[in-house]
Amino acid sequence: MPKLFHFEEISFSTREKFELVDLTREVEEVVRRAGIRNGIVVLQLPHATASLMMNENESGLKEDILRQVGKLIPERAAYQHDRIDDNAHAHIKSAVIGTSIVLPLVNGKLVRGTWQNIFAMEQDGPRGNRRLVVLVLGE
Ligand code: ZN
Repeated sequence: MPKLFHFEEISFSTREKFELVDLTREVEEVVRRAGIRNGIVVLQLPHATASLMMNENESGLKEDILRQVGKLIPERAAYQHDRIDDNAHAHIKSAVIGTSIVLPLVNGKLVRGTWQNIFAMEQDGPRGNRRLVVLVLGE
């Protein structure tokens, strides 16, 4: 009977308050271990102060993304949540950018663009206990 389901968590830590962590290689290793050739891969970052996104791993661009997101949603803006936790900006970035991605899996390969790497976007680091949930469904 073909395998239908594989679940794994990738643990990672962040070193900066704001940081893009490339998890493409780790995700592809999980997909390889899953032994599923065709289906879908669900990626879910179970955190309210980080985001999941795909883009090019180029050092200048990574800085540009962090800086521009910081301009759109600045750290200080008289947020209500800052009265209790002082990280409203990180929650808002997570809410706007999102925390999950679904990718097609075809003939054992994740379908993604050449310049589409998978990034966790830290917005409230450094954190020692971040994780990415990977669910592979298919046969
Ligand atoms: Zn908070």
